Amino acid sequence: MPTDNDGVMIILSSPSGAGKTTLVNLLSKLDNFEISISHTTRKPRSNETQDQDYYFVTEENFKRLIRNEEFLEYAKVFNNLYGTTRTPVIDKLNKGKNVLFDIDWQGADQIKNKKLDYKLITFFILPPSKEVLFERLSNRHMDDVLTAEKRMNQFSRDVLHWINYDYVVINENLQSCYSKILNLINAEIEGGSKDYDSNFIRAHVEKLIL
Ligand code: 5GP
Repeated sequence: MPTDNDGVMIILSSPSGAGKTTLVNLLSKLDNFEISISHTTRKPRSNETQDQDYYFVTEENFKRLIRNEEFLEYAKVFNNLYGTTRTPVIDKLNKGKNVLFDIDWQGADQIKNKKLDYKLITFFILPPSKEVLFERLSNRHMDDVLTAEKRMNQFSRDVLHWINYDYVVINENLQSCYSKILNLINAEIEGGSKDYDSNFIRAHVEKLIL
């Protein structure tokens, strides 16, 4: 049974290349914050560790988890399946841990629609401009210009989901973006005042959508 001592659920989503994974890792260093580790059918990258970055599984195993109704949410992203299993999340929340989710807009929508009895705060992280995003994606996919271009096209579609999030934060500078998110989380949990300018965000999104 959920109580006031339960942790809160914090979702961070963003189009690829906005720096969300770095932010989630920084937040997870805080006392009492833990990352929800997802399952995926994607192959591990060279810098990734099994059971730490993801539970890398076969499509067959993933589908078995779907059939057994173990997922709180799951979705297909860039042709791979990704999902969050329910039990570890609920266990953490019941122990008072705040759980961080690095998931896409489809997963965020599913969790929101479940209307669980735990507090949920959702963040959408955006790059400062399309030019900066392209530069970041090209650096990441140096060997593969097509991937960067494909992800830029995907960006134009993903960005439209900003409207469904509690807060949109621009990642121009990692440290200030992190502080902004942390202040908003603290204000949500403790009920303080929030430093958030929704008109500024709307104008920024309109520039990115152009
Ligand atoms: P990547 O393959 O680059 O690690 O992740 C690709 C996208 O999948 C990112 O937007 C990431 O947030 C999203 N993602 C990772 N895990 C999950 C998950 O469990 N569920 C959903 N819906 N999306 C996820």
